[in-house]
Amino acid sequence: MVYARLLNNMKIIHSSIAMQKLALKIRKTKTIGFVPTMGFLHAGHLSLVTAAKKACDVVVASIFVNPTQFGPKEDLSRYPRDEKGDLAKLRSAGCDFVFLPSADEIYPPDFQTYVTVEGVSQALCGKSRPGHFRGVATIVAKLFNIVQPNTAYFGLKDHQQVQVIKTMVRDLAMPVKIQALATVREADGLAMSSRNKYLSPDERLLALGISKGLKAAKALAGKGTPLAAKLVAAFTNSLVKHSSVRIDYIEVCDAHSLELLKVYLPRRTLMAAAVYVGKTRLIDNMVF
Ligand code: AMP
Repeated sequence: MVYARLLNNMKIIHSSIAMQKLALKIRKTKTIGFVPTMGFLHAGHLSLVTAAKKACDVVVASIFVNPTQFGPKEDLSRYPRDEKGDLAKLRSAGCDFVFLPSADEIYPPDFQTYVTVEGVSQALCGKSRPGHFRGVATIVAKLFNIVQPNTAYFGLKDHQQVQVIKTMVRDLAMPVKIQALATVREADGLAMSSRNKYLSPDERLLALGISKGLKAAKALAGKGTPLAAKLVAAFTNSLVKHSSVRIDYIEVCDAHSLELLKVYLPRRTLMAAAVYVGKTRLIDNMVF
């Protein structure tokens, strides 16, 4: 049977139409778990594939460095890529299909439709990266239509992205369940990210201050109901004062609405940070 042969070997699909046809066929009898990525995969991405594998009959991952979510001065052209390594990792994680489209396949010259999620896109990264979440919502909506997943898996490392996607799915009545999974960290606490590759050994040490700062703020929150400003101070004090380290933002907000909080609220307080270490912009967050 053709279908069984496909499941034994991970298949790579470049065409949207071919992927969609296959997905619609699979959906008649099986469930699809979907993991969208921009490649240069690490254990954080693979944790999503493993979760999808456990819960769904068929796992589809996509690798697509989405140009519309990068600003004109951002790192699109130098974003790290390793197609061969990624495919090997996906294969050993048990992924069944990889959707690997070209930029023209997704955005042909006459492409003219975008998805904008308003409220939750405007805080945090939305302020420093105008247009970023419009690019994210557009690609995720398009990928959902192509891959037809029952469930899609996202990492809470990008907490705001999860909120944007959940809001889009709710508002546009998309028939997809969103599963958000915990941030996978290096042994010393640094959140795994494809962009960690940009860091020199010295910058890698400086970057550790981000997760240390979040932990320091969390420890303070555990002692009572401190003012948000105190949590921010605990974070800032954990960062090494160095000319290469620059805070883009550090904010304390409601974990769902992303509205700013003045005082810590137990279990629904998100502390989210974006910090430049050298030229690399890193994000991390914790809910406490
Ligand atoms: P990206 O390739 O950066 O677009 O990420 C693809 C997916 O992997 C997104 O849902 C991310 O939130 C998720 N992801 C990235 N880093 C991590 C991490 N350290 N832990 C868990 N999920 C992650």
